Amino acid sequence: MQQTLVLKLKPAEAADESTVKRYIAASAAVPESAISGYTITRQSLDARGKQAWVQLSLLAYINEPFIQRQLQSFHYPDVHQSDKTVLVIGAGPAGLFAALRLIEAGIRPLILERGKDVQARRRDLAVMNREGIVNPDSNYCFGEGGAGTYSDGKLYTRSSKRGDIGRILSLFVHFGAEEKILYEAHPHIGTNKLPHIISAMRRQIIASGGLIYFEKKLTGFILEKNKIRSVITADGDQFNGDALILATGHSARDIFELLHQQQILIEAKPFALGVRVEHPQELIDSCQYHLVPLSHSAVQLRDPLLPPAAYSWVNQVDGKGVFSFVCARVVSLLRPQHRPVKLW
Ligand SMILES: Cc1cc2nc3c(=O)[nH]c(=O)nc-3n(C[C@H](O)[C@H](O)[C@H](O)COP(=O)(O)OP(=O)(O)OC[C@H]3O[C@@H](n4cnc5c(N)ncnc54)[C@H](O)[C@@H]3O)c2cc1C
Repeated sequence: MQQTLVLKLKPAEAADESTVKRYIAASAAVPESAISGYTITRQSLDARGKQAWVQLSLLAYINEPFIQRQLQSFHYPDVHQSDKTVLVIGAGPAGLFAALRLIEAGIRPLILERGKDVQARRRDLAVMNREGIVNPDSNYCFGEGGAGTYSDGKLYTRSSKRGDIGRILSLFVHFGAEEKILYEAHPHIGTNKLPHIISAMRRQIIASGGLIYFEKKLTGFILEKNKIRSVITADGDQFNGDALILATGHSARDIFELLHQQQILIEAKPFALGVRVEHPQELIDSCQYHLVPLSHSAVQLRDPLLPPAAYSWVNQVDGKGVFSFVCARVVSLLRPQHRPVKLW
């Protein structure tokens, strides 16, 4: 028999499989030995009270063999011989996902990225952080993986324009993200994990016959009869394709100027203006998890089984919504130089 259950457990209990099984058995009124396994379908944290609770929705297998979660599978055909090539400009999330989708549709993507691959890009970031020298084509905004690559990859959204989010989460798992992003209420990929996932996506694109060129900055379009026929890059190379996907993100202001110069229609869209606010993680933890101050400068640390606390804030000012976007953290009070520990 399979039974759907909801359990409210302490963090340590929720993290321990045998304890979860014990609670399932009690809840289903069967002996513990009858539980062959369980799959978590949803996990959320309620930290409103002094005691934080983990709410687990799960599917328990009772007196029947346990079946592992079926992960969505993806098929990327060989497109080496495809008679269609689509130019994709930019290897941020939009460009990479577009390339993978093109392959699924049997079309060969050719990606041009102004920055470097995700590993080489890291070296430029180190120089930037250490010496303050910014490479205009390889930095926190530009390079393989795009703008959020060095964040911890928060995967939830306030947007109501939702597509098939489950498919995207499954795709991340396919390329190496942990399965728990499929059921967590506030999933995130985790610090330092995104670069590996992005490399895996690139390997798939290349294995299927797609092409990726790094350090190729688009600088011009060649138009024929009002259609883009090919593109030119800063080093003078020219690339042709049957269509073009411009996935250069919002930091590439030169692209907007280029489109304007070449009299290609650009449409403005509503935008939100933001400021970045940094808080010590310990402060947010202490507020959200009701931690006790130990002294003037030290606070009790959060339970290591609890994630770094986040918050969201929404208000109306002069009829306009003001809200915190991806929130958390970022300076550790316990570190000597108050260095940011995470970026987003
Ligand atoms: C520090 C930071 C942390 C973030 N954290 C999160 C998060 O946790 N969760 C979340 O959902 N979102 C996060 N975001 C937002 C997220 O990164 C963006 O929404 C997302 O990257 C947009 O994807 P994109 O592919 O449209 O553009 P981008 O990511 O900007 O990618 C555009 C790509 O195009 C390339 N490019 C630009 N111009 C050219 C050119 N002329 N020729 C060739 N290539 C070019 C760039 O090098 C870049 O790689 C974060 C953003 C930042 C800056």
